[in-house]
Amino acid sequence: MSVLVLVDHDRGTVTVETYEALNLARSVIAEGEPLEAALIGTGLRGLAADLGGRGVSKVHLVDDPILDDYGPEAWGEALAQLVVSSGPAVVIAPGTDRGNEVMAQMAARAELPLAVNVVAYDRAAGNLTRLRWGGSLLENAVLNSPLPFLTVAPHALDPVEPGSGESEAIEFSPLLDAGLARTKVVDRVTLSAGATLATAPVVVSGGRGVGGSEGFAVLEELASLLGGVVGCSRVVTNNGWRPHADQVGQTGTRVAPTLYMACGISGAIQHWVGCMAAKNIMAINIDPEAPMVSKADYAVIGDLHEVLPAVVAEIKRRQG
Ligand code: FAD
Repeated sequence: MSVLVLVDHDRGTVTVETYEALNLARSVIAEGEPLEAALIGTGLRGLAADLGGRGVSKVHLVDDPILDDYGPEAWGEALAQLVVSSGPAVVIAPGTDRGNEVMAQMAARAELPLAVNVVAYDRAAGNLTRLRWGGSLLENAVLNSPLPFLTVAPHALDPVEPGSGESEAIEFSPLLDAGLARTKVVDRVTLSAGATLATAPVVVSGGRGVGGSEGFAVLEELASLLGGVVGCSRVVTNNGWRPHADQVGQTGTRVAPTLYMACGISGAIQHWVGCMAAKNIMAINIDPEAPMVSKADYAVIGDLHEVLPAVVAEIKRRQG
């Protein structure tokens, strides 16, 4: 038996959530049991070395012309066939949009349950812990299944770092009907050049306290000085001050930067679940009782219209 992890990638760029899923997989693997990976798509053999360095001993290269770009039905069917062929004891995927979609497709085909948003799994007992209600509570549950399917909550676990191991890459050719290609990525539109909300190391985020779209100019300037991007709360997008693509939270983007600056944001739970994975959170707020202030690692109690220009001026002074 083995533990099989689905690799989430966009045309060969592996997501960090895949390495987080490997972390969970390593915690459930039995002694002497191999950790295997399913790499779906064409021309991906070069990724096997990276996965080997992260503890994967066997990489299944799942290839077919239909799989040259992402399509949930074809990927789900291909993974289902690989699972039948390779016989793992547990199948784990990152809880990204793609990971959840492919696992749901596979679970439906296998007529077995899928547990999503998992952060811990006790394989012997079948007990698991997962994030529920937008990450605001942890649920303990029992998964009764002869073949457990799990997806891992994004940014809840550390990613497995690269190391020196090696993996064996073997090809697997599924039998795929052309009809499975009816849902498939055919184009990509880049909304913004450079760093995105999801990947930027710094997010300077504004809420109602910013006061209007023009108030974001100083946040833009600070984000640019720090090599980051601007985010915002739902009040801001509802008011039309920023596009929805900038929204952080339950119904926006979930971010995990090194620094998240919440400027004039109260810290409602729906916003908090989108930024709580940040390594450091700084709140700038006039209200010392705001939830964001009590949850943040650092807080400045003051008017953001005074604090932010002062921070920008100081950074510029230090940069000469
Ligand atoms: P407010 O709650 O009004 O807070 C404004 C803050 O600014 C206050 O703390 C105030 O003290 C401070 N402030 C005011 N003036 C200044 C100043 N000059 N200087 C410094 N501080 C100042 N919200 C999201 O953000 N993302 C989501 O994805 C999201 N999804 C939701 C989904 C559902 C189903 C629901 C019901 C709600 C959702 N919300 C979401 C909305 C959420 O509940 C809050 O209403 C919203 O996050 C509040 O935005 P805010 O903090 O900007 O505004």
